[in-house]
Amino acid sequence: MSTTPLTRSAPTAFGSARLLAGVTHGTRADLSTHRRLHGPQRHRTLEELAADAARVQLLGRGGAAFPVATKLAAVPPGRRTQVVVNGSESEPASRKDRTLMTLTPHLVLDGALAVARALRTSHVTIAVHDQAAASSLHAALQERALAEPSPELVRVERRPARFVAGEIRAVLRGLDGGPAVPPSRRTLPSEAGLHGAPTFASNVETFAQIALLVSLGPAEYAAVGSPEEPGTTLLTLLGDTRAQGVVEVPTDLPLDALVPGTSGPVLLGGYHGRWVEDVVGLSVTRPALRAGGLALNAGVVARLPREACALAEVTAVTRWLAAQSAGQCGPCLFGTAALARDVDDLLHGRTAPEVDARLAGLVRRGACAHPDGTVAFVTSALDVLTDELATHRRHGTCGRPYAGVLPLGERSVR
Ligand code: SF4
Repeated sequence: MSTTPLTRSAPTAFGSARLLAGVTHGTRADLSTHRRLHGPQRHRTLEELAADAARVQLLGRGGAAFPVATKLAAVPPGRRTQVVVNGSESEPASRKDRTLMTLTPHLVLDGALAVARALRTSHVTIAVHDQAAASSLHAALQERALAEPSPELVRVERRPARFVAGEIRAVLRGLDGGPAVPPSRRTLPSEAGLHGAPTFASNVETFAQIALLVSLGPAEYAAVGSPEEPGTTLLTLLGDTRAQGVVEVPTDLPLDALVPGTSGPVLLGGYHGRWVEDVVGLSVTRPALRAGGLALNAGVVARLPREACALAEVTAVTRWLAAQSAGQCGPCLFGTAALARDVDDLLHGRTAPEVDARLAGLVRRGACAHPDGTVAFVTSALDVLTDELATHRRHGTCGRPYAGVLPLGERSVR
């Protein structure tokens, strides 16, 4: 096994590691290690792959949790068809896709090549903004060129780290030489994606899950996890949680196994997610969370420690979200900035009489999900942080410091 250390904490598995098999010590799995752990690459036809994905009810592991079988069935196979692995993990709170690309690049490549072969195409593009992830993928491709040469053309393309640049339509537009912002016209990638060709696009973990599904077969794949969404999933844990960083968990794991006790609000789904008062009775199963109006999105779970000012954390992220607007839709550009000023007023004990109208005015007012995601984040925070808001209104502060538990990427906005 090669021994490329990660500078951040090594990932952890609750239960048996599958995606993270062999890498929970933070060392990268080279090709021989990967083959020992996961076996040789197996071929599935498009019909077989879609049937297997339907049998295990595999959902995409980016934001939308779209059924993989439905997406596979929507893409016409052929030589023009494109496969795009979206590794633009541009939410600073999430590290799961970077972890996969850095530590288990061959699992990601197996998944991408399984899809490409099923779709009878040789065009695979991996969009990535992280240098360590890109280097690991390049090294993995070199290993394969020597040991397992294949006809597929796999390109690793660097993309900007900006938040909305990671949205799949922005990724495709940027790969085609345009600005890395979502286009105003809503066209499905399966119809006209990269280079205008039919495109199967999904995020990194989805491709790694496809590789596992092909390697294990649907019965073994579904031997763990929830009946509604079998298997395991990756999360990034932050703050006052049982582990820190990237964890692999079975999909039926109760969330209070990761966020024990009931003290302090919990953010589910990252900066386009929602705050909840506690996680009692919730599991990580995406369909069950969706039924309750919640989403895992890119798998971020954060609980603020008691000694941190929660309202300061929310204010910092709201300002950051406003700064991430791509600036092409007026309601988004001006509305998110005004909303950030409102939240800042509340932090400093001032009133913000227009905040509710501001939130309502942002709903479904952009070319992408950024305004709606920002509204979900702020609305749920104001619903959950009623005690903190009252304290700040009375005293102008709660006396607790801003701790910076929720990361803001390379650009600080404070
Ligand atoms: S809604 Fe905002 S982030 Fe999305 S495309 Fe429009 S300006 Fe850009």
